Amino acid sequence: MKIRTRFAPSPTGYMHIGNLRTALYEYLIAKSAGGDFILRIEDTDQKRYVEGATDIIFQTLKRVGMLWDEGPDVGGNYGPYVQSERRDIYAQYAHKLVELGGAHYCFCAHKDDEDEEENAAAYAKLKDPCRLIPLEEAKKRIANGEPFVVRQNINKKGTSIFHDVVYGDIEIDYDELDEGVLLKSDGLPTYNFANVVDDHLMQITHVVRGNEYISSTPKYNLIYEAFGWQPPVYVHVPPVMKDAQHKLSKRNGDASFQDLVAKGYLPEAILNYIALLGWNPGDEREIFSLDELKSIFSAERLNKSPAIFDIAKLTWMNGQYIRNLSAEEFDELAQPYYQNLPQNLDTKALSAALQPRLETLGQIAEQTDFLSAVPEYELSLYENKKMKTTPEVAQKALTLVLPVLQNIAEWNNENLFEVLKAVAVNNEMKNGQILYPVRIALSGKETTPGGATELAVILGKEETLKRLADALQKLK
Ligand code: GLU
Repeated sequence: MKIRTRFAPSPTGYMHIGNLRTALYEYLIAKSAGGDFILRIEDTDQKRYVEGATDIIFQTLKRVGMLWDEGPDVGGNYGPYVQSERRDIYAQYAHKLVELGGAHYCFCAHKDDEDEEENAAAYAKLKDPCRLIPLEEAKKRIANGEPFVVRQNINKKGTSIFHDVVYGDIEIDYDELDEGVLLKSDGLPTYNFANVVDDHLMQITHVVRGNEYISSTPKYNLIYEAFGWQPPVYVHVPPVMKDAQHKLSKRNGDASFQDLVAKGYLPEAILNYIALLGWNPGDEREIFSLDELKSIFSAERLNKSPAIFDIAKLTWMNGQYIRNLSAEEFDELAQPYYQNLPQNLDTKALSAALQPRLETLGQIAEQTDFLSAVPEYELSLYENKKMKTTPEVAQKALTLVLPVLQNIAEWNNENLFEVLKAVAVNNEMKNGQILYPVRIALSGKETTPGGATELAVILGKEETLKRLADALQKLK
Protein backbone atom coordinates (compact mmCIF):
# COMPACT_ATOMS: atom_id res chain seq x y z
CA MET A 1 0.00 0.00 0.00
CA LYS A 2 1.28 3.44 -0.87
CA ILE A 3 2.14 5.56 2.16
CA ARG A 4 0.05 8.71 2.30
CA THR A 5 0.48 11.37 4.98
CA ARG A 6 -1.15 14.73 5.38
CA PHE A 7 -0.33 18.03 6.96
CA ALA A 8 -3.58 19.52 8.21
CA PRO A 9 -2.98 23.00 9.56
CA SER A 10 -5.62 25.43 10.65
CA PRO A 11 -5.05 28.78 8.95
CA THR A 12 -3.96 30.85 11.93
CA GLY A 13 -1.86 33.44 10.12
CA TYR A 14 1.54 32.13 11.19
CA MET A 15 3.51 28.91 11.15
CA HIS A 16 4.09 27.63 14.65
CA ILE A 17 7.41 25.82 15.07
CA GLY A 18 5.64 22.73 16.41
CA ASN A 19 3.33 22.66 13.38
CA LEU A 20 6.22 22.93 10.99
CA ARG A 21 7.90 20.05 12.77
CA THR A 22 4.72 17.97 12.43
CA ALA A 23 4.64 18.82 8.73
CA LEU A 24 8.28 17.79 8.40
CA TYR A 25 7.72 14.42 10.05
CA GLU A 26 4.63 13.83 7.87
CA TYR A 27 6.63 14.76 4.81
CA LEU A 28 9.57 12.54 5.76
CA ILE A 29 7.42 9.52 6.58
CA ALA A 30 5.87 9.77 3.11
CA LYS A 31 8.95 10.71 1.13
CA SER A 32 11.33 8.24 2.75
CA ALA A 33 8.95 5.53 1.52
CA GLY A 34 8.19 6.96 -1.91
CA GLY A 35 4.73 7.98 -0.73
CA ASP A 36 2.51 11.04 -1.11
CA PHE A 37 2.37 14.12 1.09
CA ILE A 38 -0.99 15.86 1.14
CA LEU A 39 -1.88 19.34 2.29
CA ARG A 40 -5.32 19.85 3.79
CA ILE A 41 -6.57 23.13 5.20
CA GLU A 42 -8.65 22.72 8.36
CA ASP A 43 -10.75 25.85 8.39
CA THR A 44 -14.03 24.69 9.91
CA ASP A 45 -13.53 26.93 12.91
CA GLN A 46 -14.84 30.03 11.16
CA LYS A 47 -14.28 32.23 14.20
CA ARG A 48 -10.57 31.76 13.79
CA TYR A 49 -10.53 32.69 10.10
CA VAL A 50 -7.55 34.89 9.23
CA GLU A 51 -7.24 36.61 5.88
CA GLY A 52 -4.22 35.44 3.86
CA ALA A 53 -3.43 32.66 6.32
CA THR A 54 -3.52 29.90 3.71
CA ASP A 55 -0.94 31.73 1.63
CA ILE A 56 1.39 31.79 4.61
CA ILE A 57 1.09 28.01 4.84
CA PHE A 58 1.83 27.63 1.12
CA GLN A 59 4.79 30.01 1.25
CA THR A 60 6.33 28.44 4.32
CA LEU A 61 6.20 24.90 2.97
CA LYS A 62 7.60 26.04 -0.37
CA ARG A 63 10.33 28.02 1.28
CA VAL A 64 11.65 24.97 3.11
CA GLY A 65 11.20 22.78 0.03
CA MET A 66 8.41 20.57 1.37
CA LEU A 67 6.26 20.35 -1.71
CA TRP A 68 2.92 18.59 -1.51
CA ASP A 69 1.58 16.09 -4.02
CA GLU A 70 -2.05 16.99 -3.46
CA GLY A 71 -3.61 20.08 -1.97
CA PRO A 72 -5.94 23.05 -2.44
CA ASP A 73 -3.85 24.68 -5.14
CA VAL A 74 -2.47 21.63 -6.99
CA GLY A 75 -5.62 19.51 -6.75
CA GLY A 76 -5.62 15.71 -6.66
CA ASN A 77 -8.02 12.76 -6.75
CA TYR A 78 -9.33 13.18 -3.21
CA GLY A 79 -10.35 16.84 -3.12
CA PRO A 80 -11.54 19.31 -2.19
CA TYR A 81 -8.61 19.82 0.18
CA VAL A 82 -10.15 22.69 2.13
CA GLN A 83 -12.55 21.53 4.83
CA SER A 84 -15.02 24.38 4.42
CA GLU A 85 -15.56 23.12 0.86
CA ARG A 86 -16.39 19.62 2.13
CA ARG A 87 -19.49 20.55 4.10
CA ASP A 88 -21.86 18.26 2.23
CA ILE A 89 -19.52 15.32 2.64
CA TYR A 90 -19.47 15.65 6.43
CA ALA A 91 -23.23 16.03 6.67
CA GLN A 92 -23.76 12.94 4.54
CA TYR A 93 -21.40 10.86 6.68
CA ALA A 94 -22.81 12.23 9.93
CA HIS A 95 -26.30 11.04 9.01
CA LYS A 96 -24.86 7.74 7.93
CA LEU A 97 -23.09 7.36 11.25
CA VAL A 98 -26.40 7.87 13.05
CA GLU A 99 -27.94 5.08 10.92
CA LEU A 100 -24.99 2.84 11.77
CA GLY A 101 -25.45 3.41 15.50
CA GLY A 102 -22.28 5.42 16.02
CA ALA A 103 -24.03 8.71 16.77
CA HIS A 104 -27.39 10.26 17.58
CA TYR A 105 -29.31 13.43 16.89
CA CYS A 106 -29.39 15.89 19.75
CA PHE A 107 -31.76 18.83 20.25
CA CYS A 108 -30.64 20.04 23.65
CA ALA A 109 -30.26 23.74 24.09
CA HIS A 110 -26.78 24.34 22.80
CA LYS A 111 -24.67 27.10 21.46
CA ASP A 112 -22.21 26.37 18.74
CA ASP A 113 -19.71 28.85 20.11
CA GLU A 114 -19.62 26.95 23.38
CA ASP A 115 -16.45 25.17 24.41
CA GLU A 116 -16.66 21.62 23.06
CA GLU A 117 -15.54 19.97 26.28
CA GLU A 118 -17.94 21.97 28.44
CA ASN A 119 -20.75 21.17 26.07
CA ALA A 120 -20.03 17.44 26.25
CA ALA A 121 -19.60 17.52 30.02
CA ALA A 122 -22.95 19.28 30.46
CA TYR A 123 -24.61 16.75 28.19
CA ALA A 124 -23.19 13.88 30.22
CA LYS A 125 -25.02 15.17 33.31
CA LEU A 126 -28.46 15.27 31.70
CA LYS A 127 -31.09 12.90 33.11
CA ASP A 128 -32.88 12.73 29.80
CA PRO A 129 -30.23 12.73 27.10
CA CYS A 130 -31.33 12.94 23.47
CA ARG A 131 -29.66 9.58 22.93
CA LEU A 132 -32.91 8.11 24.26
CA ILE A 133 -35.10 9.73 21.60
CA PRO A 134 -36.23 7.07 19.08
CA LEU A 135 -34.58 7.65 15.68
CA GLU A 136 -37.90 7.98 13.82
CA GLU A 137 -39.05 10.69 16.19
CA ALA A 138 -35.74 12.54 15.93
CA LYS A 139 -35.97 12.47 12.13
CA LYS A 140 -39.46 13.95 12.27
CA ARG A 141 -38.25 16.81 14.46
CA ILE A 142 -35.44 17.50 12.01
CA ALA A 143 -37.91 17.41 9.09
CA ASN A 144 -39.95 20.00 10.97
CA GLY A 145 -36.98 22.32 10.94
CA GLU A 146 -35.80 21.91 14.51
CA PRO A 147 -32.10 22.73 14.92
CA PHE A 148 -29.98 19.74 15.82
CA VAL A 149 -26.45 18.52 16.27
CA VAL A 150 -25.04 15.05 15.66
CA ARG A 151 -23.46 13.69 18.79
CA GLN A 152 -21.22 10.67 19.14
CA ASN A 153 -22.42 7.53 20.94
CA ILE A 154 -20.02 6.20 23.51
CA ASN A 155 -21.82 3.25 24.99
CA LYS A 156 -18.88 0.89 25.33
CA LYS A 157 -17.74 -0.60 28.59
CA GLY A 158 -14.13 -1.44 29.24
CA THR A 159 -10.94 -0.14 27.74
CA SER A 160 -9.83 1.08 24.34
CA ILE A 161 -6.40 -0.17 23.34
CA PHE A 162 -4.50 1.18 20.38
CA HIS A 163 -0.95 1.35 19.22
CA ASP A 164 1.12 4.46 18.69
CA VAL A 165 4.49 4.45 16.93
CA VAL A 166 6.04 6.80 19.50
CA TYR A 167 4.15 5.96 22.72
CA GLY A 168 3.58 2.24 22.17
CA ASP A 169 0.36 0.56 23.31
CA ILE A 170 -2.06 2.98 24.92
CA GLU A 171 -5.07 2.07 27.06
CA ILE A 172 -7.90 4.46 27.79
CA ASP A 173 -11.12 3.57 29.59
CA TYR A 174 -14.24 4.28 27.55
CA ASP A 175 -15.91 5.91 30.52
CA GLU A 176 -13.37 8.73 30.27
CA LEU A 177 -14.76 9.70 26.88
CA ASP A 178 -17.46 12.29 26.33
CA GLU A 179 -20.25 12.12 23.82
CA GLY A 180 -19.04 15.15 21.92
CA VAL A 181 -20.63 16.99 19.01
CA LEU A 182 -19.58 15.72 15.59
CA LEU A 183 -21.73 17.93 13.39
CA LYS A 184 -22.77 21.35 14.61
CA SER A 185 -26.16 22.99 14.11
CA ASP A 186 -24.68 25.14 11.34
CA GLY A 187 -23.90 21.95 9.44
CA LEU A 188 -20.14 22.21 9.92
CA PRO A 189 -18.23 19.34 11.48
CA THR A 190 -16.08 19.57 14.58
CA TYR A 191 -12.44 18.64 14.26
CA ASN A 192 -13.23 15.35 15.99
CA PHE A 193 -15.41 14.26 13.09
CA ALA A 194 -13.79 15.98 10.13
CA ASN A 195 -10.35 14.51 10.77
CA VAL A 196 -11.69 10.95 10.65
CA VAL A 197 -13.85 11.42 7.56
CA ASP A 198 -11.10 13.22 5.69
CA ASP A 199 -8.28 10.90 6.68
CA HIS A 200 -10.37 7.95 5.55
CA LEU A 201 -11.60 9.44 2.28
CA MET A 202 -8.15 10.78 1.45
CA GLN A 203 -6.70 7.30 2.16
CA ILE A 204 -4.23 8.63 4.69
CA THR A 205 -2.09 5.81 6.06
CA HIS A 206 -0.11 7.66 8.78
CA VAL A 207 -1.30 10.48 11.00
CA VAL A 208 1.29 12.59 12.83
CA ARG A 209 -0.02 15.03 15.39
CA GLY A 210 0.56 16.47 18.83
CA ASN A 211 0.19 14.18 21.84
CA GLU A 212 -2.71 16.30 23.08
CA TYR A 213 -4.79 14.25 20.63
CA ILE A 214 -3.96 10.90 22.28
CA SER A 215 -6.87 11.14 24.72
CA SER A 216 -9.33 11.63 21.85
CA THR A 217 -7.99 8.83 19.69
CA PRO A 218 -10.35 6.17 21.14
CA LYS A 219 -13.26 8.36 19.98
CA TYR A 220 -11.84 8.48 16.48
CA ASN A 221 -11.33 4.72 16.56
CA LEU A 222 -14.99 4.22 17.49
CA ILE A 223 -15.99 6.26 14.44
CA TYR A 224 -13.67 4.25 12.19
CA GLU A 225 -15.10 1.09 13.67
CA ALA A 226 -18.75 2.14 13.22
CA PHE A 227 -18.11 2.86 9.54
CA GLY A 228 -16.12 -0.33 9.14
CA TRP A 229 -13.02 1.65 8.18
CA GLN A 230 -9.37 0.94 8.93
CA PRO A 231 -7.78 3.52 11.30
CA PRO A 232 -4.43 5.00 10.24
CA VAL A 233 -1.08 4.35 11.88
CA TYR A 234 -0.84 6.85 14.74
CA VAL A 235 2.32 8.85 15.37
CA HIS A 236 1.79 11.21 18.28
CA VAL A 237 4.62 13.60 19.01
CA PRO A 238 5.45 15.43 22.24
CA PRO A 239 5.10 19.20 22.32
CA VAL A 240 7.92 21.59 21.51
CA MET A 241 8.70 23.34 24.79
CA LYS A 242 10.08 26.76 25.59
CA ASP A 243 11.37 25.44 28.94
CA ALA A 244 10.63 22.50 31.23
CA GLN A 245 7.15 23.84 32.10
CA HIS A 246 5.90 25.86 29.16
CA LYS A 247 4.98 24.95 25.64
CA LEU A 248 6.34 27.10 22.87
CA SER A 249 3.47 29.33 21.90
CA LYS A 250 3.05 32.19 19.51
CA ARG A 251 0.36 33.58 21.76
CA ASN A 252 2.95 33.99 24.52
CA GLY A 253 5.24 35.81 22.15
CA ASP A 254 7.44 32.88 21.13
CA ALA A 255 8.88 33.02 17.65
CA SER A 256 7.05 31.54 14.68
CA PHE A 257 8.83 30.41 11.52
CA GLN A 258 8.21 33.83 9.97
CA ASP A 259 9.62 35.63 13.01
CA LEU A 260 12.80 33.58 12.84
CA VAL A 261 13.23 34.21 9.12
CA ALA A 262 12.73 37.93 9.72
CA LYS A 263 15.51 37.79 12.32
CA GLY A 264 17.86 36.37 9.73
CA TYR A 265 17.63 32.63 10.29
CA LEU A 266 17.87 30.60 7.09
CA PRO A 267 14.82 28.42 6.33
CA GLU A 268 17.11 25.43 5.71
CA ALA A 269 18.76 25.87 9.11
CA ILE A 270 15.41 26.20 10.89
CA LEU A 271 14.17 23.05 9.21
CA ASN A 272 17.35 21.17 10.09
CA TYR A 273 17.09 22.28 13.70
CA ILE A 274 13.45 21.34 14.15
CA ALA A 275 14.05 17.91 12.63
CA LEU A 276 16.18 17.24 15.71
CA LEU A 277 13.48 18.40 18.14
CA GLY A 278 12.36 14.91 19.02
CA TRP A 279 14.22 12.84 16.48
CA ASN A 280 17.83 11.83 16.00
CA PRO A 281 19.65 9.77 13.41
CA GLY A 282 21.18 7.46 16.02
CA ASP A 283 24.63 8.99 15.76
CA GLU A 284 26.30 12.33 16.37
CA ARG A 285 25.50 13.96 13.04
CA GLU A 286 23.48 17.14 13.21
CA ILE A 287 23.64 18.93 9.88
CA PHE A 288 21.17 17.56 7.33
CA SER A 289 19.57 18.86 4.18
CA LEU A 290 15.97 17.92 3.51
CA ASP A 291 17.17 15.38 0.93
CA GLU A 292 19.51 13.78 3.43
CA LEU A 293 16.72 13.62 6.00
CA LYS A 294 14.54 11.86 3.44
CA SER A 295 17.07 9.11 3.06
CA ILE A 296 17.76 8.49 6.76
CA PHE A 297 14.50 9.34 8.53
CA SER A 298 12.58 6.68 10.37
CA ALA A 299 9.57 7.32 12.60
CA GLU A 300 10.80 4.60 15.00
CA ARG A 301 13.53 6.98 16.11
CA LEU A 302 11.06 9.65 17.23
CA ASN A 303 11.41 10.43 20.90
CA LYS A 304 8.57 10.68 23.39
CA SER A 305 10.21 13.08 25.81
CA PRO A 306 9.35 16.73 25.20
CA ALA A 307 11.91 18.69 23.22
CA ILE A 308 13.07 22.10 24.37
CA PHE A 309 13.49 24.73 21.69
CA ASP A 310 17.01 26.00 22.27
CA ILE A 311 17.50 29.25 20.39
CA ALA A 312 21.24 29.22 21.15
CA LYS A 313 21.57 25.86 19.40
CA LEU A 314 19.54 27.06 16.43
CA THR A 315 21.69 30.18 16.27
CA TRP A 316 24.86 28.09 16.25
CA MET A 317 23.42 25.88 13.53
CA ASN A 318 22.40 28.92 11.51
CA GLY A 319 26.01 30.10 11.68
CA GLN A 320 27.08 26.75 10.22
CA TYR A 321 24.62 27.21 7.37
CA ILE A 322 25.84 30.76 6.72
CA ARG A 323 29.42 29.48 6.57
CA ASN A 324 28.43 26.75 4.12
CA LEU A 325 26.90 29.17 1.60
CA SER A 326 28.93 30.10 -1.45
CA ALA A 327 30.17 33.71 -1.46
CA GLU A 328 27.59 34.53 -4.16
CA GLU A 329 24.71 32.97 -2.23
CA PHE A 330 25.65 34.82 0.93
CA ASP A 331 26.00 38.11 -0.90
CA GLU A 332 22.55 37.70 -2.40
CA LEU A 333 20.91 36.81 0.92
CA ALA A 334 22.64 39.74 2.62
CA GLN A 335 21.41 42.37 0.13
CA PRO A 336 18.12 43.17 1.90
CA TYR A 337 20.13 43.89 5.06
CA TYR A 338 22.34 46.35 3.18
CA GLN A 339 19.41 48.58 2.22
CA ASN A 340 20.26 51.40 4.60
CA LEU A 341 23.99 51.46 3.94
CA PRO A 342 25.70 54.19 1.89
CA GLN A 343 25.59 53.75 -1.88
CA ASN A 344 29.27 53.46 -2.85
CA LEU A 345 30.31 50.64 -0.58
CA ASP A 346 32.05 47.56 -1.97
CA THR A 347 29.37 45.12 -0.83
CA LYS A 348 31.23 42.11 -2.24
CA ALA A 349 34.11 42.92 0.11
CA LEU A 350 31.62 43.57 2.90
CA SER A 351 29.98 40.19 2.35
CA ALA A 352 33.36 38.47 2.35
CA ALA A 353 34.17 40.10 5.68
CA LEU A 354 30.79 39.33 7.25
CA GLN A 355 30.20 35.74 6.15
CA PRO A 356 32.70 34.10 8.54
CA ARG A 357 31.51 36.23 11.45
CA LEU A 358 27.74 36.01 11.48
CA GLU A 359 25.37 33.61 13.16
CA THR A 360 22.25 35.30 11.81
CA LEU A 361 21.71 37.74 8.99
CA GLY A 362 19.98 39.95 11.54
CA GLN A 363 23.40 40.64 13.07
CA ILE A 364 24.40 42.53 9.92
CA ALA A 365 22.81 45.72 11.26
CA GLU A 366 25.02 45.95 14.36
CA GLN A 367 28.11 44.77 12.45
CA THR A 368 27.73 47.48 9.81
CA ASP A 369 26.32 50.43 11.75
CA PHE A 370 29.62 52.36 11.48
CA LEU A 371 29.56 52.28 7.67
CA SER A 372 27.03 55.10 7.39
CA ALA A 373 28.89 57.31 9.85
CA VAL A 374 31.66 56.89 12.41
CA PRO A 375 30.01 56.83 15.83
CA GLU A 376 31.16 59.15 18.61
CA TYR A 377 34.08 57.55 20.42
CA GLU A 378 36.58 58.33 23.16
CA LEU A 379 40.22 58.79 22.28
CA SER A 380 40.97 56.13 24.87
CA LEU A 381 39.81 53.65 22.24
CA TYR A 382 43.28 54.08 20.72
CA GLU A 383 44.80 52.68 23.93
CA ASN A 384 45.64 49.06 23.37
CA LYS A 385 48.27 47.25 25.40
CA LYS A 386 48.60 44.26 23.12
CA MET A 387 48.95 46.42 20.02
CA LYS A 388 51.20 48.85 21.92
CA THR A 389 49.14 51.82 20.84
CA THR A 390 48.14 55.06 22.53
CA PRO A 391 46.47 58.18 21.14
CA GLU A 392 49.99 59.57 20.55
CA VAL A 393 51.07 56.49 18.62
CA ALA A 394 47.82 56.71 16.68
CA GLN A 395 48.45 60.31 15.75
CA LYS A 396 51.90 59.43 14.47
CA ALA A 397 50.56 56.41 12.58
CA LEU A 398 47.77 58.28 10.82
CA THR A 399 50.08 61.14 9.93
CA LEU A 400 52.41 58.68 8.23
CA VAL A 401 49.68 56.66 6.58
CA LEU A 402 47.61 59.42 4.99
CA PRO A 403 50.02 60.59 2.24
CA VAL A 404 51.00 57.01 1.41
CA LEU A 405 47.37 55.97 0.89
CA GLN A 406 46.64 59.06 -1.16
CA ASN A 407 49.20 57.86 -3.68
CA ILE A 408 48.51 54.14 -3.66
CA ALA A 409 48.25 52.65 -7.16
CA GLU A 410 45.56 50.04 -6.69
CA TRP A 411 43.00 50.03 -3.89
CA ASN A 412 42.83 46.39 -2.90
CA ASN A 413 43.41 44.39 0.23
CA GLU A 414 46.86 42.97 -0.68
CA ASN A 415 48.22 46.31 -1.83
CA LEU A 416 46.90 48.15 1.19
CA PHE A 417 48.38 45.57 3.50
CA GLU A 418 51.81 45.69 1.81
CA VAL A 419 51.86 49.46 1.88
CA LEU A 420 50.85 49.73 5.55
CA LYS A 421 53.38 47.07 6.53
CA ALA A 422 56.05 49.07 4.71
CA VAL A 423 55.07 52.19 6.67
CA ALA A 424 55.58 50.20 9.88
CA VAL A 425 58.98 48.80 8.83
CA ASN A 426 60.28 52.13 7.55
CA ASN A 427 59.40 53.83 10.81
CA GLU A 428 60.48 51.05 13.15
CA MET A 429 56.93 50.51 14.34
CA LYS A 430 55.01 47.28 14.85
CA ASN A 431 52.35 46.33 12.29
CA GLY A 432 49.70 46.64 15.00
CA GLN A 433 50.74 50.19 15.77
CA ILE A 434 49.73 51.13 12.24
CA LEU A 435 46.82 48.76 11.59
CA TYR A 436 45.01 49.17 14.91
CA PRO A 437 44.74 52.97 14.78
CA VAL A 438 43.63 52.81 11.15
CA ARG A 439 40.89 50.35 12.05
CA ILE A 440 39.66 52.53 14.94
CA ALA A 441 39.81 55.65 12.77
CA LEU A 442 37.70 53.98 10.09
CA SER A 443 35.10 52.48 12.42
CA GLY A 444 35.12 54.13 15.83
CA LYS A 445 34.59 50.62 17.19
CA GLU A 446 36.56 48.01 19.05
CA THR A 447 35.09 45.07 17.12
CA THR A 448 34.62 45.28 13.41
CA PRO A 449 33.88 42.86 10.58
CA GLY A 450 37.41 42.69 9.29
CA GLY A 451 40.74 44.37 9.86
CA ALA A 452 42.00 47.80 8.82
CA THR A 453 42.63 47.00 5.18
CA GLU A 454 39.37 45.10 4.74
CA LEU A 455 37.47 48.08 6.11
CA ALA A 456 39.39 50.38 3.77
CA VAL A 457 38.35 48.29 0.78
CA ILE A 458 34.71 48.20 1.90
CA LEU A 459 34.61 51.99 2.42
CA GLY A 460 36.53 52.85 -0.75
CA LYS A 461 39.43 55.22 -1.16
CA GLU A 462 37.64 58.54 -0.86
CA GLU A 463 35.72 57.71 2.31
CA THR A 464 38.77 56.02 3.87
CA LEU A 465 40.95 59.08 3.35
CA LYS A 466 38.22 61.32 4.70
CA ARG A 467 37.80 59.23 7.85
CA LEU A 468 41.57 59.08 8.46
CA ALA A 469 41.83 62.86 8.12
CA ASP A 470 38.87 63.37 10.48
CA ALA A 471 40.42 61.02 13.03
CA LEU A 472 43.73 62.86 12.83
CA GLN A 473 41.91 66.12 13.45
CA LYS A 474 40.25 64.57 16.49
CA LEU A 475 43.59 63.28 17.82
CA LYS A 476 45.34 66.66 17.53
N1 GLU B 1 -5.92 21.22 12.40
C1 GLU B 1 -5.29 20.48 13.46
C2 GLU B 1 -4.23 21.34 14.11
O1 GLU B 1 -3.80 22.31 13.51
C3 GLU B 1 -4.66 19.25 12.87
C4 GLU B 1 -4.43 18.14 13.79
C5 GLU B 1 -4.18 16.90 12.97
O2 GLU B 1 -3.11 16.83 12.35
O3 GLU B 1 -5.03 16.03 12.91
O4 GLU B 1 -3.87 21.08 15.23
